Amino acid sequence: MTPGTKPLVAGNWKMNGLRSSLDTLKTIASGAAAFVGKTDVLVCPPATLLREATSLCSGTVLRIGAQDCHSLPSGAHTGEISAAMVADCGATFVMVGHSERRDFQNETDAMVRAKAVAAHGAGLVAIVCVGETGAERQSGETLNVLKRQLARSVPDGAAAANTVVAYEPVWAIGTGLTPTTDDIREAHAFMRAELVSRFGGAGANMRILYGGSVKASNAAELMAIDNVDGALVGGASLKAEDFLAIAAIYETL
Ligand code: PEP
Repeated sequence: MTPGTKPLVAGNWKMNGLRSSLDTLKTIASGAAAFVGKTDVLVCPPATLLREATSLCSGTVLRIGAQDCHSLPSGAHTGEISAAMVADCGATFVMVGHSERRDFQNETDAMVRAKAVAAHGAGLVAIVCVGETGAERQSGETLNVLKRQLARSVPDGAAAANTVVAYEPVWAIGTGLTPTTDDIREAHAFMRAELVSRFGGAGANMRILYGGSVKASNAAELMAIDNVDGALVGGASLKAEDFLAIAAIYETL
């Protein structure tokens, strides 16, 4: 943990969740109500559920975010959702540059950066995702990849209040594999130094989440690593009890 920062435990539901899943959100919201408030808890459901999710969670401690947004405010972009539309739904966060979008939708660092700028313009907190592939790790490129992605994907004007960085090694997502504690410590320390060198004090306080096969059984170990300021959770966020168990561990800090 970075002293002085409030951890963020964020759930990414990906392309999962129908209206019947809103019950899961209700359970997460009521479970999080019992927390002492040391942790910010966020779920990013699919866009189809955003509006109902924010209505349901209004007045609770559970925050709602989107999984993506377009970089432009409006126009001829069939099927896309702007940052203003996300904000209009009552959401307060948006993920940008998740590796699945970088991979399947061919999103570049420049596109991710433009989305983060749009998010900031709409008053949203951008969760900018970065991380190396398995091949890049094996060829010793991890820190170079992180340096490049941070430099090109995180926009000028990023600050602790409007930006969260999520380190998600691509090979750890949904695989049950996680880097060693030392590898995560090295990556997060490196990213912190990069953020401080570019943003000064704002970079010192920006939250850096770890994501990739986080579950209740490894959350405590991950939480104890310097500069790990929370978790981005995929699969384990789909079940309220699993997700709450992870968030509860961050509450014990
Ligand atoms: C993710 O997709 O952001 C993620 C971290 O997934 P999982 O927790 O399932 O590895």
